[in-house]
Amino acid sequence: MATTEQILNMMGRYSANNYDPLPIVIRKAEGVWLEDVEGKRYMDMLSAYSAMNHGHRHPAIIQALKDQADQVTLVSRAFQAEALGLFVKRLAEYTGKAKVLAMNTGAEAVETALKAARRWAYRCKGVKEDHAEIIVCEGNFHGRTLTLTSLSSSELYKKDFGPYTPGFRLIPYGDIDALQQAITPQTAAFLFEPIQGEAGVILPPDGYLAKARELCRNNRILMLADEIQTGFGRTGRRFACDWENVVPDIYMMGKALGGGIMPISAIAADDEVLDLFEPGSHGSTFGGNPLASAVAIAALSVLEDEQLAERSNRLGEQFMYELQSIIHPDIVEVRGRGLFIGMQLSTQARPFCEALAELGLLCKETHDTTIRFAPPLTITEEELEFAMVRIKQVFSGE
Ligand code: PLP
Repeated sequence: MATTEQILNMMGRYSANNYDPLPIVIRKAEGVWLEDVEGKRYMDMLSAYSAMNHGHRHPAIIQALKDQADQVTLVSRAFQAEALGLFVKRLAEYTGKAKVLAMNTGAEAVETALKAARRWAYRCKGVKEDHAEIIVCEGNFHGRTLTLTSLSSSELYKKDFGPYTPGFRLIPYGDIDALQQAITPQTAAFLFEPIQGEAGVILPPDGYLAKARELCRNNRILMLADEIQTGFGRTGRRFACDWENVVPDIYMMGKALGGGIMPISAIAADDEVLDLFEPGSHGSTFGGNPLASAVAIAALSVLEDEQLAERSNRLGEQFMYELQSIIHPDIVEVRGRGLFIGMQLSTQARPFCEALAELGLLCKETHDTTIRFAPPLTITEEELEFAMVRIKQVFSGE
């Protein structure tokens, strides 16, 4: 048993300093609640960047984990595994796509989609080899690999990590004219987040996704939707693209797909795209391992059985309404969809997050001036009220 101070010292001494966490050390969790090493309870308003849509240690998902752990956990892709077969069928049905390719992290899912799009450009569209271009948006966050760092517009993510992977064109997010103008005969794909999460819960203008869908279709460009943070009910729909009835060519999924328990990610697409991968062309030792597959199947069942997307929609509307009713000189805007809400401040968000933590509410600032509110979708109305009372308290300065 260690104290907060001891663990903070260990982290300072032995861990790379690549994050800036609140100085709270969690020992255990259940539902929307976290408990630190001194026994103080906090409500989780971040959900591990939306990986925790199902709440901490959801009993049905933990049971699936235990059951699978008693059977087999890993065979690699050298052999077939029962759980992976059941998982790919389930996720293909869930997305409405023909096939699925399973990996582990969100970043890997995006890398997989980019590889697929480049192959598709050369083999299906007839783009000259090594000339494919992929259009990406300013403010994007797709992960931390070198290629995903290369296509970022953020100095913080890029500095001193060059040389960068070529082949990307950056355009302003939400600007349909900019997308149209960036298209060339070499364009393979348009990669986007339907709502930009890490940028501060940025929504594109209404109609943007549907118009982008049309542009991609008319110009034979693959539409690649990064639903890693926005998927699985977070925004009040199964996928954020559903808000505009848009079906992308490739879904990228991760985070909540693993029920907050196992890292598992995937892309889903139709045969024309996923049949471009022949044996040896892509993969990962742990990708689609039986343990993660079984957990993901249970996570998908919980989403449907407990209607978490509908719940997120309903509670999100209520939460947003209450947040918008707070009058405070530093609040510029409250925006979002479902239980995916950003409060834009005119000043640093960190002191507000620290004040909320004091009162038992764990939020994290994003890009300095935005507070993101994204609780587990299993949160109850009473628990939301607990949060609202404390948020109002902090913003009334009591
Ligand atoms: N894409 C989006 C939209 C994300 O929000 C994230 C993570 O925050 C990623 C990709 C990367 O996922 P991972 O951290 O699992 O690699």
